[in-house]
Amino acid sequence: MTEIRLPAHILIATRNQGKIQEIRDLVADLPLTFLSLEDVPHAPDVVEDAETFEGNALKKARILAQATGIPALADDSGLCVDALGGRPGVRSARYAGEGASDADRIAKILDEMRDVTEQQRSARFICALALAWPDDESKIFVGTCEGRITHEPCGSGGFGFDPIFYFPEAGCTFAEMERQAKNRVSHRGKALRQFAEWLTALISGE
Ligand code: IMP
Repeated sequence: MTEIRLPAHILIATRNQGKIQEIRDLVADLPLTFLSLEDVPHAPDVVEDAETFEGNALKKARILAQATGIPALADDSGLCVDALGGRPGVRSARYAGEGASDADRIAKILDEMRDVTEQQRSARFICALALAWPDDESKIFVGTCEGRITHEPCGSGGFGFDPIFYFPEAGCTFAEMERQAKNRVSHRGKALRQFAEWLTALISGE
């Protein structure tokens, strides 16, 4: 592997405004420019068909970096429930089928877990963040967050599976936490902070 070079620009390979804002918040003081897909015309859509979060994040980052010539940062995340053998996992966004809502996906998980005891309801969110250069060089950061699946949805904040993800340290679900409080402990926050720390160290030449 050749030496990693500090890019002047990084393309954030997502159309999710929430994710873009989180990344920009964490890297606001660094001397490089973050672009979004709005800044690059004809960015290709990427099919997320890898078997792992790392595989999907890397696939998205590589395709976008090669298509645009700009180093690209992509993420893939999801919920892994132990009692369901790790499902929904990499299929989190599509669990319950195309066109299903967050409520449908939550209902499906709660139904599949209706006979699962309190002790066996452990789960974790995982986020893989991949930075890829147009020449195929890459770097991956992974964040995880441990919790438990509730018996019914609780709270109205957040998105996705937040209403059924009980975070023991806070004593409530992710959907009942303030956005900043969730970001401090979440899988995505952890992966993003690793990325920001790595970038800071690279900039200061450590
Ligand atoms: P993606 O990373 O945008 O592909 O999202 C994968 C799916 O995982 C989302 O649609 C949500 O259903 C779920 N997910 C990922 N991160 C979170 C989170 O922080 N809270 C709740 N659900 C999440």
